[in-house]
Order: sequence, then C-alpha cells, then structure tokens
Amino acid sequence: ENKHTQKADYVLFSKDLAEKVQRDFSLSSAIRKAVANKQLKLVYQPIIETSNGECHAVEALLRWEHNGKAVPPDVFIPLAEKNGAIREIGYWVLENAIQQQHSMMQDGLNIKICINVSIVQFEDPEFVNSVKALIDQYKVDASLFHIEITESVFSSDKPKLLQAIKQLQTLGLFISIDDFGTGYSSLSVIQDLGVNIVKVDRSFVNRLDSNGAAIVKAVMLMANELNYKVVAEGVETPEQEAKLKALGVHYLQGYLFSKPQPYTHLIKQFGPSFQSISNNSLTSAL
Ligand code: C2E
Ligand code: MG
Ligand code: MG
Ligand code: MG
Repeated sequence: ENKHTQKADYVLFSKDLAEKVQRDFSLSSAIRKAVANKQLKLVYQPIIETSNGECHAVEALLRWEHNGKAVPPDVFIPLAEKNGAIREIGYWVLENAIQQQHSMMQDGLNIKICINVSIVQFEDPEFVNSVKALIDQYKVDASLFHIEITESVFSSDKPKLLQAIKQLQTLGLFISIDDFGTGYSSLSVIQDLGVNIVKVDRSFVNRLDSNGAAIVKAVMLMANELNYKVVAEGVETPEQEAKLKALGVHYLQGYLFSKPQPYTHLIKQFGPSFQSISNNSLTSAL
C-alpha cells in the first residue's frame, strides 16, 4: 500500500517535470520570435518619493503575450538568457524605453526611467556602445536612465561587468542594485561601483515585523556612509509604508501606489506629480 503511494507520487512528479520541460522547450523557441512578431510591450511602475508622495521615476517592466496568454518575465527571461534571445529582447527594451523618454521630453516631462538589464547583455562587448548610440539617436539625457542590475550577478568576480558599469556611469547613467539582500554582494562592491540606488527586495518588505526591519535598518545605515539612496520594493500596505517611512527609506515602489501600467494609463493617474519632477530633477539622484 505504502509502496504503491510512493510509486504514484513518483509518477506524478515525473509527469509534472516532463510537462515543465516540454513547456520550457516550446516557450524557449517561441521567445526567439517575440520581437519579430511584435509580442512584447513595456509597462511602467512608479517609484514614489517617501517624503511627498510624488512619482520621481518609473521602472520599465517587460510583458510578453504568447498564444493569447501573458507569460511572466520570471519565466521567460531565464529562458531567453539561456538561448541567447535576451540580446535582441534587451535591445528592444532599451530602444523602447529610450523612445518613451524621447516622447516624454517632447511633452515637457522629465521623468527618470529605470531599465532592467540582464548579466548576459553585459557580456556583449557592444552593449555599452549600443546604449550610447540609442541615447544619441533619440537625443535624450543619459542622466534620466537608471540601469537595474540584480544583486545575484555580483556573486563572483566579473571584471567585464564592472568595466561596463563604469562606462555607463561615465556616459551619465545611474546604476541600481536590484533585489538587494537576496544575493552576495558585499559593501565593497557597492562602494567600488559607486552604486546610486539600492533596491531592497520585496521579501524583506514582506516581513518588516520580523527580521525584515533589521535588514532595512542596516541598509539605511550604510546608505549615508556610502552615499546611495534606498528604494523599498513590493510595498502593498499602509502599515508597510509607515514603517519604511519611519526607517528613513527614500523611495517606495509597490502595488499600494500603482501596479505596472501602460504609460498612457500612468500619465492619467500621476500627471500632476509628473509635472513637478522637472523642478527637482537636478538636485535629486533618483
Ligand atoms: P524586478 O526588477 O525586481 O521587478 C519588480 C517586480 O515586482 C515586478 O514583477 C513587479 O511587477 C513586481 N511588483 C511590484 N510591486 C509589487 C507589489 O507590491 N507586490 C508584488 N507581489 N509584486 C510587485 P514582474 O514585472 O513580473 O518582473 C519580474 C522580474 O522580471 C523583474 O524583477 C526583473 O528581474 C525581470 N524583468 C522584468 N522586465 C525585464 C526586462 O525588461 N529585462 C530584464 N532583463 N529583466 C526584466
Ligand atoms: Mg528591477
Ligand atoms: Mg527587484
Ligand atoms: Mg528581479
């Protein structure tokens, strides 16, 4: 009887696994065609200044619709990184975000855009040049872009990554460390890179009642010494907002303020505070 159950579990497990392998295989070949088939779009999520509730930046987040269904980026980005499609996709993201910035500037808006970049893109020796070429082509201000790099990629020595980051900063772009607290980057990495923004991962915001608050406190303590600003990710409740505010966190991002939305929706919701950004943008890092 017992043996029987175990066997059934095993069969079930391998069926799920086989389904996952099959799914990944078909998604992996479909993602290669996503750019050509115009299946990608960007949505934007505001990043709010804690002190006055204004929107000071937006994060561009990629959406892929495949066979009428939205496939989450946590599923398709790793596949695109594995099969190399991330290069073309990453370029598409850059160009679209930069185009968006261009049209915002024409509308008299001055909003920073945060762009997620995969480590695989950094391994491309042409990456920094392509950023520079796009910024020149669309005549946008480089300092209106933040490049978000997930903390986990700093776990091992990556001289090429560090060099590319320096080059982007020389062009005038800002650098954010994303999902901070989930990887292995040390204080020295933050200091060496002159990181401008540290984004505390949602998992800590989720447990501010337990050890999450201690992590945020530590990150805030370092912020003043190492001269970076802090964003808390995944803020969903007014209680979390109040706690993060009390801890001195500079910027907040999460469903409490807005889900990621198409740009045209966002502008309706945040129009007035978008306008005031241009007055502050020269004095603010974000
Ligand atoms: P991320 O860069 O850390 O982005 C934040 C994620 O948290 C987004 O998920 C966002 O929708 C979600 N989020 C924001 N506020 C809340 C909240 O209050 N509660 C909850 N539960 N979630 C919240 P999304 O859009 O599914 O993206 C997931 C990840 O995929 C991103 O994490 C990023 O690592 C990656 N990604 C997204 N777009 C791109 C892209 O254009 N390029 C690359 N390389 N990676 C991307
Ligand atoms: Mg991000
Ligand atoms: Mg994150
Ligand atoms: Mg992430």
